Amino acid sequence: MALSYSDGVSNSTPAPAPIPPCPRCSGTHVVRNGANASGTPVFRCQTCGRRFVAAPKKGPVGESDRDLVRRLLAERVGIRAIARVTGRSRSWVPGFVNALYREGTPHDPGPPPKSPARS
Ligand SMILES: [Zn+2]
Repeated sequence: MALSYSDGVSNSTPAPAPIPPCPRCSGTHVVRNGANASGTPVFRCQTCGRRFVAAPKKGPVGESDRDLVRRLLAERVGIRAIARVTGRSRSWVPGFVNALYREGTPHDPGPPPKSPARS
């Protein structure tokens, strides 16, 4: 039996948002996974493990923005300056630049590690 409150204090907790399907695998086995730093509820797909918010404020970075970052890099503009100019975060820009250089640079393992001195 449910309790009913009649002391004038309204229950201010809003109804929980409906659980959206997974954006990666469109699975419906999705659970609540707390909230992000700004308080938006975060969900987690039990099938593929993807964490997501229901309606992200920023979408994926468009190809025009990526092209602008590539041109600014070619002009030797600093990473933080690129982040300021494009409005992208200071964590997204270095990740993108690293991925750019990783795919444009052949893997070079360098010299082998030194073996420990033997007695
Ligand atoms: Zn999924």
